[in-house]
Amino acid sequence: MKLLEEKTVLITGASRGIGRGMALKFAEAGAQVAFTYRSSAEKAKALEEELSSFGKKCKGYQSDAGEYKAAEELINNVVEEFGTIDVLVNNAGITRDGLLMRMSEEDWNEVIDTNLKSVFNTTKAIQRTLLKQRSGSIINLTSIVGIKGNAGQTNYAASKAGIIGFTKSVALELGSRNIRCNAIAPGFIETEMTAELDENTVKEWAAAIPLKRAGTIDDVANLALFLGSDLSTYVTGQVIQVDGGMLT
Ligand code: NAP
Repeated sequence: MKLLEEKTVLITGASRGIGRGMALKFAEAGAQVAFTYRSSAEKAKALEEELSSFGKKCKGYQSDAGEYKAAEELINNVVEEFGTIDVLVNNAGITRDGLLMRMSEEDWNEVIDTNLKSVFNTTKAIQRTLLKQRSGSIINLTSIVGIKGNAGQTNYAASKAGIIGFTKSVALELGSRNIRCNAIAPGFIETEMTAELDENTVKEWAAAIPLKRAGTIDDVANLALFLGSDLSTYVTGQVIQVDGGMLT
């Protein structure tokens, strides 16, 4: 039997990058996969087609992670169409980098809403479903930047640090109902998000990695698979780094 046979997974922000990699990994492990995107409709369609080759139900939903009402609608639709949700992966995220001196209120708000409020939105909206079935695994994508901070990323670091506090609190609130909540803290992973960084920052980051390479999408997806599956039934409230030893 495959690791996620008969499980349904919902991943936010999976049209590209780490989210997309996790969607494929979960489908390969036997799960039904629902996912969201904000604007990449064509990429979402292409992913739906790829996922359907695994022979399980799959569907992409256009849904803005920062909107509470949209999250409620999303959870209702997925539960109605898939039957339930066993694993929620809060992955959608953006950067709007710049020194605090020059950061606009809009850049602050957009990052906090998309990266942090989004996690509140879906987690709150899914709670009743998970409580009813007395099981569930919630996986939140934070970052090592949320642990150590980063110049030029006050908004992003604050959103990711907030996710850590939220994750630990949800683990404490819902543990007695067999609902687990953990966070993945990637270091430097090659995706479109990191492709935006300037060359010097990339060199600095790469030099600081003991394993001497950037992380791959698969490195992160493998940990998500572990946290979403019954291999991790005694793991909750944890922040697990996938960073090649960068922050030790
Ligand atoms: P990415 O390649 O930029 O992809 C971001 C995904 O999020 C896209 O599918 C995008 O959808 C979606 N998204 C953005 N805003 C959204 C919104 N408002 N509503 C719904 N979906 C939205 O990013 P990534 O590198 O894969 O990062 C994924 C997660 O890992 C993020 O939370 C990021 O902070 C975290 N992380 C990444 C790294 C890294 O090195 N890459 C390191 C640490 C943490 P559209 O295509 O429709 O815009």
